[in-house]
Amino acid sequence: MEENLEKNIVNKIIVVTGGSRGIGAQIVKELASCGYTVVLNYNNSENSAKSVENELKKMGYAVDIFKADVSVSKEAENLINYTINKYGKIDVLINNAGISQTKLFTDITDEDWHRMLDNNLSSAFYCSRESSKNMIHNKEGLIINISSIWGETGASMEVHYSASKAGMIGLTKALAKELGPSGVRVNAIAPGIINTDMNKEYSNKDIENIKQEIPLEKIGKPENISKCINWLIEDNYTTGEVISINGGWYM
Ligand code: NAP
Repeated sequence: MEENLEKNIVNKIIVVTGGSRGIGAQIVKELASCGYTVVLNYNNSENSAKSVENELKKMGYAVDIFKADVSVSKEAENLINYTINKYGKIDVLINNAGISQTKLFTDITDEDWHRMLDNNLSSAFYCSRESSKNMIHNKEGLIINISSIWGETGASMEVHYSASKAGMIGLTKALAKELGPSGVRVNAIAPGIINTDMNKEYSNKDIENIKQEIPLEKIGKPENISKCINWLIEDNYTTGEVISINGGWYM
């Protein structure tokens, strides 16, 4: 009872990168509806970001949108500094923004490689570096990196994607060790296949074939990820973990 009261009084300020669509949009909706103040970052999908913002504001929730290409160091810094200047702090950073590409390894160009690493891994580095300064000062904070099953086990024809997501796991563990003594937790979530635009290139037949490889025989929903994030925010003793949410596809 007392804890609930405290949660209502002490509001948390949360930044979600890539919150305009898919998993990120669901994370924004879930956390805003819990009463947290959420800064939704987007890059290209302004209409979608505004529609999530309007939907939540109509219900009286605290949400704000900020355009930044988080693969660019300065823009990532602007996002975090905008949040700290406006709300006084950042409590939780969710590094969710990401891209994917399916290509034979020998066809991956230097440009493909750098674009993948910049969008998926460097973005998390830039946002985490800027946020952690404030979190260390406040002696508390939480960073959650959205990795992937492919960062754990590797995907054929997605070598650059798998490398970027494996990099997020290394970043998570090393940073958890370094920031633990400052009261800052760092965790990763590694989703399996989740129903979003990222998988729209798959045909219905492809999806049926994938389901047969998954013990729970279904693909995941963005809610499966957002609920875990909500739990990580409530918790205070989990750090350096990679939480696999994949229906048993990889264990
Ligand atoms: P999605 O539907 O394609 O959405 C991707 C989101 O990332 C969009 O909101 C996009 O924003 C944003 N984004 C990409 N690059 C950005 C940048 N440089 N700056 C700011 N925002 C950027 O993908 P999703 O399925 O929701 O994926 C979300 C995360 O989960 C990704 O990191 C992905 O790798 C990971 N994941 C997904 C699956 C899956 O099966 N769906 C599985 C494992 C891991 P704009 O459209 O506004 O540019």
